[in-house]
Amino acid sequence: MSRKALITSAITAIIVVAAGVFAALGGGSGEMPAPVCRAASSGGGSGAAPGGVAGGDAKVKVAVSILPQAYFVERIGGERVSVLVMVPPGASPHTYEPTASQMRELARAQMYVRVHVDFEEAWMPRIAAANKNMLVVDSTSGIELSSDKDPHVWLSPRLVRIQAEHIYEGLAKIDPDGRKVYERNEEAFLRELDALDEEISTILAPVRGGRFMVLHPAWGYFARDYGLEEVPIEVEGKEPSARELAALVEAAKADRVRVIFVQPQMNPRTAEVLAQQIGARVVTLDPLARDWPANLRAAARAIAEALGAGGGGTAHKARP
Ligand code: ZN
Repeated sequence: MSRKALITSAITAIIVVAAGVFAALGGGSGEMPAPVCRAASSGGGSGAAPGGVAGGDAKVKVAVSILPQAYFVERIGGERVSVLVMVPPGASPHTYEPTASQMRELARAQMYVRVHVDFEEAWMPRIAAANKNMLVVDSTSGIELSSDKDPHVWLSPRLVRIQAEHIYEGLAKIDPDGRKVYERNEEAFLRELDALDEEISTILAPVRGGRFMVLHPAWGYFARDYGLEEVPIEVEGKEPSARELAALVEAAKADRVRVIFVQPQMNPRTAEVLAQQIGARVVTLDPLARDWPANLRAAARAIAEALGAGGGGTAHKARP
């Protein structure tokens, strides 16, 4: 490359970088739509969309509580939607408190997809009041919750089928022009859900009836779908007492637990203490990953391994 060409390309690079910085600063000042745009571009979309729906402001804005829901909405909405996620990576949907800027952003959302996690239950009156024109869709409608009202319905591909249907109906209502697109996308998504369900069934078939130990009981519906039982360390969302912990140690020894699952959103200390006492390993399972299908597949493999698909683990029958 000649010296002149080198300088020219260097200058071009500087201009491109400067333009990017300028755009970032412009978008981030005041209460402009930066976070929504960012959520849209970091999602499944691949930049400009055909059919005149390119650019953040032309998109249908959908708010959701947690990251896996963003995946569902993006699968069905495709490039017509941009998603605002309330609970950011690393935060817990049980205790999260939305920021003032998130509450302001809700004013520009056309739809909110509910899933009934704790923070959402606490904040829903304020969320709805922040935007009276926003369609509130309950994605859990028609799902039969377990007796303890476990909210983690997004971790069962079978229950996600129902959530997908509600998301599709909501999108078709607020954006009738996109109905055909949403319909096509939903059909493809449902086929993938079936395939994923089958795949996970196959991975977990050798350890059917097994019990796996988790810090936080997020995997109850998942366990139910695949003939497993989760044994939580937490008792009703709280750390176990010394006596409860001692009982868990005995139960874990009897089950010959080799792995205790923790999650990135929670302090693993209690699990680590317990693991040390029984000589088990601590392994992370994420109930809130945005790449939902890959994450569920990985979780299935981790659970199969923990239950000793190759022997030595717990082969106890689940309690009825
Ligand atoms: Zn949870």
